Amino acid sequence: NKVIVLCKRPVGKPALDDFKTNIEDVPSADDGEVLLKTTYVSVDPYLRGRMNDSESYIPPFELDKPIQSGIIAEVIDSNNTRFKVGDFVLGNLFWKEYQVSDGKDLRVIPKDPAYLTAYLGVLGMTGLTAYLGLTEIGLPKPGKTLVVSGAAGAVGSIVGQVGKLLGCKVIGLTGSDEKVHLLTSKFHFDAAINYKTAADLSGAIKAACPDGVDIYFDNVGGKISDDVLNNINKHARIPLCGAISLYNDADPVLGPYIQPVLVKKSALIQGFIVGDFADQFAEATKQLTSWLMDGKLTYHETIYEGFDRIPQAFLGLFDGSNEGKMIVKI
Ligand code: NDP
Repeated sequence: NKVIVLCKRPVGKPALDDFKTNIEDVPSADDGEVLLKTTYVSVDPYLRGRMNDSESYIPPFELDKPIQSGIIAEVIDSNNTRFKVGDFVLGNLFWKEYQVSDGKDLRVIPKDPAYLTAYLGVLGMTGLTAYLGLTEIGLPKPGKTLVVSGAAGAVGSIVGQVGKLLGCKVIGLTGSDEKVHLLTSKFHFDAAINYKTAADLSGAIKAACPDGVDIYFDNVGGKISDDVLNNINKHARIPLCGAISLYNDADPVLGPYIQPVLVKKSALIQGFIVGDFADQFAEATKQLTSWLMDGKLTYHETIYEGFDRIPQAFLGLFDGSNEGKMIVKI
């Protein structure tokens, strides 16, 4: 039974030797417990924050203890009446091939293999983040111009599509020409810009948004966001979802530099974590599911195979190795 632990706190960009694989016995399920076999593991940028020894909205990971993330697992033994052998469950579980759980935080998900992994993405945490951050803070309306950074990732690709469904003009910022193509073809963005190759990103955003930017859904922070904020309209709304460009900086430059623009434009910038909207999860999931079933919403996944590749998949988030949701299949 392989178990991946954090053996060193990453300094800067995480490295493979920050992680170690231990071997443990396969546990057995006591009364009230289930034995789970991990089938799909979600790796997410927020895990980087938990690898630092600092206060946040969730406690840091402990050294030499297994890492936890969103996981889909199969019930292979059950002494809990809520679960039967063969059920698939979703939970915040450990990076272990096998583990037991008392089932308290587990949710049984439909077995349909076509949509199983969707519960880690579009129908799970990242889809809810996209939908609720955009609709509750961005307040999209027909005719508004929406710019999304980290646009080809798990959250960004859903933000852009929801923006289109709600009548916005949508422009995505991403880190490769392949992803630019993905955004404008599969996800129907109106335009997309490669922030790595644009000589003048602010100018390129201006050209793509001749009427200015009404909503900026920010996944990345830093310089890219400053270039967007240079182009905002009066009363622009800015859901601040993440700042992945800063997560590996020991001393991130805190900004933005463009505070005077925010003042001049009476802009609203609001940070959030998806849990802020927990009482709206059921309604939001219903909407996302209905769009998905009607073919109005689609999603993309990058799936690495093999338990040993979980750390590598996690590291890949920081060099843009993923298109859509990054998942590891065990
Ligand atoms: P993604 O699927 O978007 O994966 C990360 C992507 O970030 C990479 O593919 C890469 O795309 C981009 N990236 C990596 N490094 C940089 C950099 N230095 N500058 C700019 N872009 C970079 O991850 P998620 O969709 O899961 O998460 C997106 C953001 O949303 C993160 O900031 C995350 O922390 C945040 N988040 C917030 C939540 C909340 O509750 N507030 C919940 C879930 C996520 P590219 O090739 O385009 O550079």
